[in-house]
Amino acid sequence: MSKIKLMPCPKCGGQPKCPAFAVSPWEVFVWCSECGYEGDIGENEIIARHLWNKECEKHKELNKDDEN
Ligand SMILES: [Zn+2]
Repeated sequence: MSKIKLMPCPKCGGQPKCPAFAVSPWEVFVWCSECGYEGDIGENEIIARHLWNKECEKHKELNKDDEN
């Protein structure tokens, strides 16, 4: 299974890095190499990537609302 491509950071548009581990190997998250923003923790890298992209989509929607 190929890895999900990460969207740019929702805060600064920077390059995201994955994986990063919280305290345990099963607490994985994506983080931004530019501003240090951390995505939600998932139990594996695939979930962490999904959570990151979901956050990015949410921010894109919010920005769209601001423009209208
Ligand atoms: Zn960032």
